[in-house]
Amino acid sequence: MKTIFFLLILLIEQSFCQQLPIVASNSEKLTGYEELSDFLSSIEGKHKFGKINVIGKTVEGRNIYSFEFSKEGINPNTNRLKVLVFAQQHGNEHSGKEAAIMLISDFVDGKFDHLLENLDIAIIPQINPDGSEKDKRRNGNNADLNRNHLTLTQPESIALHNYFNKILFDLTLDVHEYFPFSSDWRNFGFYKIADEQLGLLTNPNISTAIKKFSKEQVYPFVEKYLIEKGFRFNEYIVGGPPNIERLRHSTTDINDGRQSFGIQGSLSFILEGINGEKNSADGIEKRSKGQYEAIVGLLNIANKKHEEIKSLVKNERDYIVNKKSTLSLRGDHFNNGQIFRFPVRDAFKGIDTIISSQNYNPEVKSLLDIDVPIGWLIPKNDPKLNSLITYHNIKTEELESRAEIIEYEITSLDSIFLEGEWLRDVKIKETLKSDLNLSEYFFLPSKQIKKITLNLAFHPQSMHSIVQYDDFEYLLRNKIYPIKMVR
Ligand SMILES: [Zn+2]
Repeated sequence: MKTIFFLLILLIEQSFCQQLPIVASNSEKLTGYEELSDFLSSIEGKHKFGKINVIGKTVEGRNIYSFEFSKEGINPNTNRLKVLVFAQQHGNEHSGKEAAIMLISDFVDGKFDHLLENLDIAIIPQINPDGSEKDKRRNGNNADLNRNHLTLTQPESIALHNYFNKILFDLTLDVHEYFPFSSDWRNFGFYKIADEQLGLLTNPNISTAIKKFSKEQVYPFVEKYLIEKGFRFNEYIVGGPPNIERLRHSTTDINDGRQSFGIQGSLSFILEGINGEKNSADGIEKRSKGQYEAIVGLLNIANKKHEEIKSLVKNERDYIVNKKSTLSLRGDHFNNGQIFRFPVRDAFKGIDTIISSQNYNPEVKSLLDIDVPIGWLIPKNDPKLNSLITYHNIKTEELESRAEIIEYEITSLDSIFLEGEWLRDVKIKETLKSDLNLSEYFFLPSKQIKKITLNLAFHPQSMHSIVQYDDFEYLLRNKIYPIKMVR
């Protein structure tokens, strides 16, 4: 009798395990890559509209999976709103992956069938399984993937952008964790305790229409949804504590999983769930549930406003390609008199409360603008630049010979402090170049969906330029900048 009972328990556990790794294990255990792969194989074909796609391989040869949930199969030509959720770029941030697994499981069980009329959804549970297996932030090449969306030197970020380029998702969500338990904040007497923070687009080249919609429609909806579910919430904020450092809405850099898609017209977000205090698995069940509900909240507003978002994104893309005529190369965050209120825990009494900060810098102002040039000329014999334009799917064209070609002479190299970091400050002198052999160059026209990406990448004075990275610093070694501007 005892044996039968034991077997029964084992069977229940096993069938449960196939459905949902995180619940089957005890709550302090994290789902490993093999378990995730087994789970995904076990659900293959279980839902008429669910499909597992391998979008690429990692440095160490693991699969990067995407679960696609769509009536016709995700492709750029359907009228439905195309949503991409991707988690765990940082391998030591597990709650997004666990939430994605719960979501996929519920999708397969039919819980989200009502979304399928209006949405095509892709969920990538882990971009960085190599890091995840070692509980490390970085990938198998020791690179931070969330700083790699411009230079695209890592197979994981290449796979993600290749996938994006094929589908041109309308809405994207990059799922992370934040660590509030630093000694600075404890000394301040309070530390951030929001279960979830939602980050909106901040790059100054993204239009007001997109920013306004995110702030006035999406953010309040997700906030209300999460608070009703019992989770603490605020807009994603970095910096501080406010007595020693300003608070700002993260970065405007185009090398991350939010702005890199936002500058291509997508409505993009970053989600930051709270870290475990003692270790990556600490409180993982509740933390994953928070991430799960935040993603569901976002899917619900996407469903409710699908037509509006679809036309917003379409207009933004048309605007980028055809009309956008100035670009901001440099910017920073400024105080505008607003006060930021956010949930914290009193570090001594352990009581949760809300504090207000005046050291709040929500406004991004441009500090250097340019008129958009006709395009850029990239030397054909530079393999790194060639890979870059291939991975970004930047289109090349023949250049009409009437165009003016501008060459930059680098007159000095200094440093400039922007967004809390020292950056390369390249001083240049422009000269008109009339004797260039055009057959040695690829011409990249600005008039394409990658307009913002390529101009910010190749202008030597852009704070987000590739010359800010050690991988491309060689472009500044000679007196003449090898990339030419066409106007
Ligand atoms: Zn992260």
